[in-house]
Amino acid sequence: MRIDLHVHSTASDGTDPPGALAEKAVAAGLDVVALTDHDTTAGWETAAAALPAGLTLVRGAELSGRWYGAEPTVGLHLLAYLFDPGHRPLAAELARVRRSREQRAERTVALLNDGGIDVTVPEIREYAAGGTVGRPHLAQALIRRGLVGTVGEAFAPEWLGRRYRLPKADIDAFTAVRLVNEAGGVSVLAHPRASSRGHIVPDTLIAELAAAGLWGVEADHTDHSAADRAHVRLLARDLGLRVTGSSDYHGANKTVRLGAFTTDPSVYEDLISTATGAVPLVGASRPPTPPTA
Ligand code: AMP
Ligand code: FE
Ligand code: FE
Ligand code: ZN
Repeated sequence: MRIDLHVHSTASDGTDPPGALAEKAVAAGLDVVALTDHDTTAGWETAAAALPAGLTLVRGAELSGRWYGAEPTVGLHLLAYLFDPGHRPLAAELARVRRSREQRAERTVALLNDGGIDVTVPEIREYAAGGTVGRPHLAQALIRRGLVGTVGEAFAPEWLGRRYRLPKADIDAFTAVRLVNEAGGVSVLAHPRASSRGHIVPDTLIAELAAAGLWGVEADHTDHSAADRAHVRLLARDLGLRVTGSSDYHGANKTVRLGAFTTDPSVYEDLISTATGAVPLVGASRPPTPPTA
C-alpha cells in the first residue's frame, strides 16, 4: 500500500484541480491520497466525485496555526484528517483565516505597489481562482513580470520571504488541535523542521501540543534533512506521536512529486480507526451495465 497524506489542489495553492489529482495519484502508484488544502475543505466534493476504482481519498486540510506564547510567535502547519466539515467552530476558524489571507494579499499588493511593482488585486484573485489565497499566487504575479523565475525564487528574503511578507491571523495552535479533535478528526503537525520557512517548531512546543491532543507528526518531508527525519522520529517515540511521511505535492508550484514520501500502512490504519468525523472514500468500480429488456 502506498499512502500519501499531504497534497494540495487549486482549492488552495496547488496547480492541479481536485478532480484531476485522483488520476495523477493512480499514475503515481498511490493507493491512498489525502487532499489537504490550506484552510479549506472546498476541494473535497470534486475530488470525491472523480475518485477512480482502487483509490482511497482521505479528506483533510492544512490549518495555518501559530503559537502566540513566544516572541517572535511561531507559525506552524497542522494537517487535519477526517474531521466533520460541518463542525461550526472549526469551519468558522477556517473561514476567518481565509478572509485574513485575502486581506493580507491586498496589503501585500499595496506594499508591492509602494515598492514600484504594479501588481493588482484582481490579478491575484484570478490566480487563486476562488481557492484559498496564498503567497504562491503573489509569486505568480512576480513571475509574470519577469521579476523572479520560479515560485521558489519568489520566496527569497528580498521578495515574499521577508521584504514583502506580511502576517495573517493564524489559528492559535492549541485551539486548532482542540477543534480538530472536537470535530472528530485527527491532527498531524506538518514539516516541523522545515527551516527554509525561517524557523523550526521547537520540541518543547511539540511536547505541549502532544499533551493537548496532537495525534502525529510528519517526519518524511522534502524540506527535512536525514538528521531532521531521525530527530522527529525519536521525538515522536518519546511523546507517543504517530509518524507520517508525505509529498506535500503542489503541482507546478513546487518541484516535489506525488508519492515522493509515503506513510506506513499501520499508521494509516490507526488514523482511520481513530477518526470519527468523516470516513475515507473508496473509489467504486463502475456498476455493470444493466441488461436491456
Ligand atoms: P502562505 O500560506 O500563503 O503564507 O504561503 C506559504 C505557501 O507557500 C506554502 O504552503 C508553500 O506552498 C509555499 N512556499 C513556501 N515556501 C516556499 C518555497 N521556498 N518555495 C516554493 N513554495 C514555497
Ligand atoms: Fe502551500
Ligand atoms: Fe505546509
Ligand atoms: Zn502543505
